Amino acid sequence: AEISYIMIKPDGVQRGLVGDIISRFERKGYKLTALKLYQTPKEVAEEHYKDLASKPFYKDLVNYIVSGPVVCMVWEGKGVVATARKMIGATNPLASEPGTIRGDFAIEVGRNVIHGSDSPENGERETAIWFPEGITS
Ligand code: ATP
Ligand code: MG
Repeated sequence: AEISYIMIKPDGVQRGLVGDIISRFERKGYKLTALKLYQTPKEVAEEHYKDLASKPFYKDLVNYIVSGPVVCMVWEGKGVVATARKMIGATNPLASEPGTIRGDFAIEVGRNVIHGSDSPENGERETAIWFPEGITS
């Protein structure tokens, strides 16, 4: 079945948004197949965002992800990758529609609360990075 790797970033955890965010995916009807609170090692953040390694904001991005615990999740179900991206909203929260997670909770692109896989292939790739121990299914 299709899976998406969804991660509540350190600002989302610190601000107490975990319950609200999980509730949105539960209410939508997706199935939670993995969940953990995790202090990210730098190498894991670098591997996750390796396609952005040449970007000017890459270093700040890695530092942001390791700045505090994240909530790592895998959600499963029909169309979950694209639907989660819609629920999350645009990368820059100033462009995210109200009603989306970033639209409701964020202002800064460098503190945009949540990550969601951008393709089913990346859903699988990122799940393997963050859950090398494997997931329920
Ligand atoms: P994510 O992969 O975290 O779900 P995304 O797919 O919407 O976000 P990407 O282009 O993959 O966007 O960028 C990854 C992350 O890098 C963004 O979520 C954001 O935190 C950060 N980022 C992207 N563009 C910028 C930028 N111009 N300045 C600062 N940070 C940025
Ligand atoms: Mg992305």
